[in-house]
Order: sequence, then structure tokens, then C-alpha cells
Amino acid sequence: MALIVQKFGGTSVGTIDRIKNVASRALAAQREGHQVVVTVSAMAGETNRLVALMEGVTTNYNRREYDVVVSAGEQVSTGLVAAAIEAMGGKARSYQGWQIRFMTDSTFAKARIREIEGTRIRRDLAAGCIVVVAGFQGIDDGGNITTLGRGGSDTSAVALAAALKANRCDIYTDVDGVYTTDPRIVPKARKLETISYDEMLEMASLGAKVLQTRSVELAKKYSVPVRVLHSMEEGTGTMLTNENPEMEKVLVSGIAFNKDEAKITVLGIPDRPGVAASILGTMADANINVDMIIQNMAHGSDTTDLTFTVPKGDYSQALAVLRDAKTGARELAGNPEIAKVSAIGVGMRSHSGVAQRMFKALAREGINIQMISTSEIKISVIIDEKYTELAVRTLHDAFELHKDIGDRITG
Ligand code: ASP
Ligand code: MG
Repeated sequence: MALIVQKFGGTSVGTIDRIKNVASRALAAQREGHQVVVTVSAMAGETNRLVALMEGVTTNYNRREYDVVVSAGEQVSTGLVAAAIEAMGGKARSYQGWQIRFMTDSTFAKARIREIEGTRIRRDLAAGCIVVVAGFQGIDDGGNITTLGRGGSDTSAVALAAALKANRCDIYTDVDGVYTTDPRIVPKARKLETISYDEMLEMASLGAKVLQTRSVELAKKYSVPVRVLHSMEEGTGTMLTNENPEMEKVLVSGIAFNKDEAKITVLGIPDRPGVAASILGTMADANINVDMIIQNMAHGSDTTDLTFTVPKGDYSQALAVLRDAKTGARELAGNPEIAKVSAIGVGMRSHSGVAQRMFKALAREGINIQMISTSEIKISVIIDEKYTELAVRTLHDAFELHKDIGDRITG
């Protein structure tokens, strides 16, 4: 007998029919002999509606009250799912975060999980109940309701699985797994049977928006086997696991892309210690996340250029902050029409030549590379946004990601 946590996202509980589908999925797993904990999101669109209500009152809201309002959507779906299970002849109990003591810190709207009390859940499971827990919400030491940040119910599910030492955490969503790239861009993209936590972290933070990044970090930390599955179709989904030697045999596992960044170049800054720190410091002070950074060599002159990327939403503010800061720069340039395209794979640790293959393939299509950054398992390039789809397709082909793993080049 295994203990399984099943998580259903907003679209998977979006209608009463879908709520009934959730109930039958949970009952089916129980019939197979497993103990089942279900975590749910609010019904699709509901959290947005609640946020809008709050912003209708004031945009300068107290975050404690924001959490009281936006956590409410999950309360409705837990009750509906539990009732649907009972209507089908099963036993179920719903719980809100405060009832099971899903403890977090007091950072309202983006609380961090501290501890989850499993006693009540275990008692109900032992009594043959399916336990339905509200995702996204918790409670702090002072008894205040908290939420984990948008998309947080993935993290709730993984945290519950870790706390209950579940055998698996199944995340039911509206896609049937994690793909080698976005199938809307490359129709022959393949579903991955397995992906390592580290690769998934890169995929998630690079724009393959399947799971909240924090949930993957948590899964990695506690080695929770996570499976991503379609809630309305049958299939084996994609399994997230620790890295294994099989995975290293392939050069690249996937191509991710992100159009949400903008590029800023500060030209002609004095070439002396502390300048990069002070320029990037102005970004940190303004709470703007800097991603890629390149500083050029100062050939012969006593000035240099610094180029970096920031989220597109922070682009104008970043330029304004830099204009106000006395950076001593000659000129400030920027371009929001860029995209980051990345090749990801743990195989890069043991194979060379990935970068060369990537750059050659882009060059053949006449795609100019504006910036490059690498990590142990990832190579990212910044290119003109209008070539994103072409670059993704080109790289997917170059690494033969449409082929069976066994038939691919290994470099
Ligand atoms: N309902 C919350 C949201 O829409 C949490 C979640 O769906 O994961 O952000
Ligand atoms: Mg989600």
C-alpha cells in the first residue's frame, strides 16, 4: 500500500463535471489499495476574481487581508471535491490550511512553509478517508491565514508529500507531461518519460510553466518523486526524479525559451573596482532581479560596457533608476525585444561540444547571438525576439530531440 498525494490545478477543478472527475480519480487510486491525499487549487479564474475584488477596494491593501480574501477559492474546491467523493460512495474529509496546521512564516502573499502537522491526516487515512487539503494556504504562528504566492498549490502538494513521506506526488494538470520543448512551436516535440529535478528547475524558471519553481526545489530537497499528468486523459505523464546515469547519456533534454526579459547596456562606465557592484546594486535596491550579466574588456580605454537582462515588466523602471543614479556612464541603451533560448541537459556534465553545436545551428539560420551564459547543465543565448520560434525549432532539430532517446547523437 502506498501513500499518494494527488494535486489538481484550477482547470482540473474548473467545473462540476471536472470536480467529479477528480473524485473518481481519487477513488480509483484508493480502490487500487492506496491511501490518498488530494490537494486542490481554486476553480479556474477564481483566484484572479478574488484578487480583482481586493484591488477594487484598494490597491494599497494590507497583505494580511489580501491572504484572507485570495485563500477563499481553495476552501470552496476542497468542500466540493470531498462532497463529490462522498456522493460517489466514498469517505472523504476536507481541511483548510489552518485546520491541519500547515505552518508558514508571516510573509503574507508569499509565505514560506515551516512545518506540516500530519497527525490528523494520518488518522483519517487510517480510517479509510480520502483527505482533501486546500492548496496555496497556510497559517502562521499568530494564527493568521497566509498564502504561498500565485501558483502555490503545487508547492503545497509537494510539501504535504514530503511531510507525510508519501510514495509519490501526482500533479494533475492540463498538459500530459513535460515536453522537449513547447509542442505549439515544435509539433514533433516529445514527451519526456523522466526529467531530473535540476533540469526541471531550469525548464520551469526558463518559461516552461508547468510547475511552480518552488515546488521543484522542494521536491529535490526531500527527494519527492513527482509525476506530472493530464487530469482528463490517461497516460504515464513525466516523472521528476534524482539524476541517474541513463539521463547523462543524452546531450540535451529540452529547449526552453523566455520572452519576458529585456536587455540593458550601460556604455562607457569607468573601468575600476566597484562600478559593476554599484550599478547592479541600484537594481537590487529597486527590487529588480538581474539575470544574465556581461561585462566587456576595456581595450586600451579606461571605460567599459556592462550589459544585463531584467524582467520585461521592470524594464522602464530599471532605465529610470539608472538614469537617476550617477553611474558616470556615457550612454544608456536598452532593448525589450529580446528572447532567451536555452538548451538544457544533465548530459552536458559529461559531454563536450554542446555549445559549438548550438552556436553553429543558430549561425546556419543567420540568427545573431547577443549574449551567452552557461551553467553546468544549461547554455542560454539572448537573441532578437522575432527569431524565437525559428531558434527553438532549429535547436530542437540540431539535438535530434524528436528522435527516440536511443537514436540520438551523443556528441
Ligand atoms: N489558486 C492559486 C492561484 O491561482 C494557487 C494555485 O492555483 O496554485 O494562484
Ligand atoms: Mg498552476
